[in-house]
Amino acid sequence: MWTDSGFQANDWKLVQQIRNPWGQVPVTAGGKSLHGRARKYMDELLSLQEAADTRSRRHHYVPKAYLRQWSFDGKRVWALDTVTGVVKPLGLTKVCVEENFYRVVGPDGAAHNRVELLFGVVDTELRRVQTLFNRLEDPEELQFDDLIALGVTMAVQRMRTLQERRLHQQYNAWHVAQDPGGVASWDDPANPHLAAGFHTKLLFSAMWDAADVLTTRQIEVWHDPEGRFMTCDAPVFVPFRRNISPSLLDAPYVVWPVSPYRVVALSNNLVGEKAVIRPATGKLVSMVRDGVEQGRERMIFASEKQRERLPRTKKFRRRTQARIRCSQRTPRGEYIKPPGCCVELSQVFAAGPDVALCDQGLHNPAPDMWSYK
Ligand SMILES: [Zn+2]
Repeated sequence: MWTDSGFQANDWKLVQQIRNPWGQVPVTAGGKSLHGRARKYMDELLSLQEAADTRSRRHHYVPKAYLRQWSFDGKRVWALDTVTGVVKPLGLTKVCVEENFYRVVGPDGAAHNRVELLFGVVDTELRRVQTLFNRLEDPEELQFDDLIALGVTMAVQRMRTLQERRLHQQYNAWHVAQDPGGVASWDDPANPHLAAGFHTKLLFSAMWDAADVLTTRQIEVWHDPEGRFMTCDAPVFVPFRRNISPSLLDAPYVVWPVSPYRVVALSNNLVGEKAVIRPATGKLVSMVRDGVEQGRERMIFASEKQRERLPRTKKFRRRTQARIRCSQRTPRGEYIKPPGCCVELSQVFAAGPDVALCDQGLHNPAPDMWSYK
């Protein structure tokens, strides 16, 4: 069986050769090969694992400083709650925040919030990268370290959200149903911090590999002088294609709005430049708008100028869900003889998990998945 929650390896074939503008190969080998700023970043993260606990209990999975770019007074931001349909200004301290979201149980059995300190480092770097790309005028000024920092920042921001946790809970419910007693469940009423523990461990072990996938893409900066870009509570997204999320290798764009005026899009169209700054056409603006509407978990944020354009009358019944399919072929195209199959985990824009499996008697139903729709 193979699994894929966005990062998938395919067979390689040479399609074309393009100049590498960075003069270095942007691969961290899953975090083992780090230099310069990335090394320093990793060292800071590692040092904090030994730090004293923090009293902070309200954990932001999208940094306040990130959202401030859309704020009209530096403290509040116009927000559409897609569950209630209400548009109103909300304090930056009150959005994209969960009580004890990163509270985990340490090896000594005691719960602690040190992971929040790790995210302090992540947030500082995110802020630096966000500012860098908001101000970027001359792509040649970008350093190799900036490419790595962008890849890590976007990978971590994509993986650290409430939405990502919910999707992992859906996948976990499926795995547990297939192998009861064999696969550790994320859901244990006796241990409310279990899901946080699994999620953060997964995140910090996957971040460098995820970054390696992103840094092989072309950096594009889309600039809209009219400031029409919105963002949401899952602000690094892969636009759906016919309601299915393409893998990161196939996706035309991985999108991260950095302000109402700018979006960083990692494209699979390499042109041999460090970054390409493009004026945002109406087509790109609406692609970002659709991406935000479909990719959000619950909240959509807009600048003061754009708040009238928040889709307040729209019905939001669908959002990102787990999609599970069987195939008689492996991702490498090899045929699997029955009884046997290959299970693909991906994501779909739907009202609930989308599971359609073979009837060879290999799979158990997993009704618990729907507790996390
Ligand atoms: Zn099957």
